[in-house]
Amino acid sequence: MADKRDYYEVLGVDKNATEAEIKKAYRKVAKKYHPDINPGDKAAEEKFKEAAEAYEVLSDSEKRARYDQFGHAAFEQGGAGAGGFGGFDFGGGDMGDIFGDIFGDFFGGGSRGGARRNGPRQGANLRAAVRITFDEAIRGVDKQLEITLKESCTTCGGNGCKPGTSPETCSKCNGTGQVVYTQQSMFGMVRNVQPCPDCNGSGQIIRNKCVDCAGTGYIKVRKKIKVPIPAGIDNGQSVRIREKGEPGINGGPRGDLLVNVNVSRHPKFQRQEYDIFSTEPITFAQAALGATLKIDTVDGPYEYTIKPGTQTDTRVRLKNKGVPSLRNKNLRGSHFVTFVVQVPTHMTEAQKDALKNFQEAMGEIPQQEHESKAKTEEKHEKKGFFGKKKK
Ligand SMILES: [Zn+2]
Ligand SMILES: [Zn+2]
Repeated sequence: MADKRDYYEVLGVDKNATEAEIKKAYRKVAKKYHPDINPGDKAAEEKFKEAAEAYEVLSDSEKRARYDQFGHAAFEQGGAGAGGFGGFDFGGGDMGDIFGDIFGDFFGGGSRGGARRNGPRQGANLRAAVRITFDEAIRGVDKQLEITLKESCTTCGGNGCKPGTSPETCSKCNGTGQVVYTQQSMFGMVRNVQPCPDCNGSGQIIRNKCVDCAGTGYIKVRKKIKVPIPAGIDNGQSVRIREKGEPGINGGPRGDLLVNVNVSRHPKFQRQEYDIFSTEPITFAQAALGATLKIDTVDGPYEYTIKPGTQTDTRVRLKNKGVPSLRNKNLRGSHFVTFVVQVPTHMTEAQKDALKNFQEAMGEIPQQEHESKAKTEEKHEKKGFFGKKKK
C-alpha cells in the first residue's frame, strides 16, 4: 500500500469538501468506472475499487478524521481500526444505498433485478387448476377458486417482530443484504456478490419473533378468487391473474396466480385448435333421397339439407360454428360434420319385405341365391384363414 493515492485526490474533491460534495464526487467516479459499464476493463476496475475505498473512509466522519490525522497508515494492517479486507470494508455502511442510487439513475428506478439485492422484488407465482366443461370453454366462464394466500400479518404489521420490538440490522452484511467474496483465480481477483446467508438477503435479523406469524411477517388466509376464463380456451392453457401469488419482497409487487384449465371431453364434439369435428348418423333413405336434418352444434341444433345421393363419410364444413378465437370473440373456427349412413340391425318383417322389393327394383340378384352365395363365400374365407395360419 506504499503508492496509494490520496483519497481526496481519488475523488477529486478538496480537503474541506462537505459530505454531500464527497457523495456527489464518488457517484460520478463510480458511475464512470463501474465494472458493469466497463466489462473486462482491469484499469477501470482498479479505479472503481480505489474510489469505493476512498468513499468508504471519507463518508464516515470518524474514519475521515483518522485519515486526516494519520493518512493511509490509519487503515493499514494492524493499524488503528482496519476492517474488512485490505483495510476497507467493501460491503459496508452506505455502500448498498449508493449502489442503489447509481443503478436507480442508470436503469430507471432500480428495476434491474439483482442490482439491488435488498430492493423491492416481485413475489413468486402460485399455481392452481380448474376443470370446466367443453361448453364452458366455448362460451367462457367465471370460476370461483379457493386458495391459500399469504397476507401481511396484522399483529406485527408484516415485519415479523414481537410487538414492541424491531428488527436488528444484520451484522454480517451491515443491512445491505449482500456479501462480497473475493477469490484468487487464474485471471486475478474475482469479485463475487451473493445474498447474505445470515439474513437471506433481507439485511435484517429478527431476535424476538412475532408469535402469530412465527417471524415470517405473513399469515395464511383462505381466499375466494374469481377466475375469468375467456371463451375459446383450450385444454391445458393457463389463465394469469395478476398479483394473486406470493407476496413481494421488500415492498415489491405480489407474484401472479397461474390457473391451469382442464377442459372435460364432450361426448359428441372433438376439438382441434379452433375447429370442431363431429359425426351425424343418417339413414340409408335420407342419404339416397336427400333430407333436411338438425345437426348438433355448440350453438344448438342447426338445420342442414343433404343432397340426394349423399355417400357415407361425406364431410361438410359449417363456417363460423367452431370455437371462438381467444383474441377476438367474433372470429370463429369451423365445425366439420361427417355423415355416416347407418345400416339397420333389427328389422321387422314388413321392413325386410320393403327392402327386398327395393332390391328387386334395383335389379339385384334374388334373395335365395344371394344367401347361398354368401355362405359359400364365408366357407372359402374360413379355409383361407386356417390355411394361412398353418403355413
Ligand atoms: Zn406477525
Ligand atoms: Zn445479512
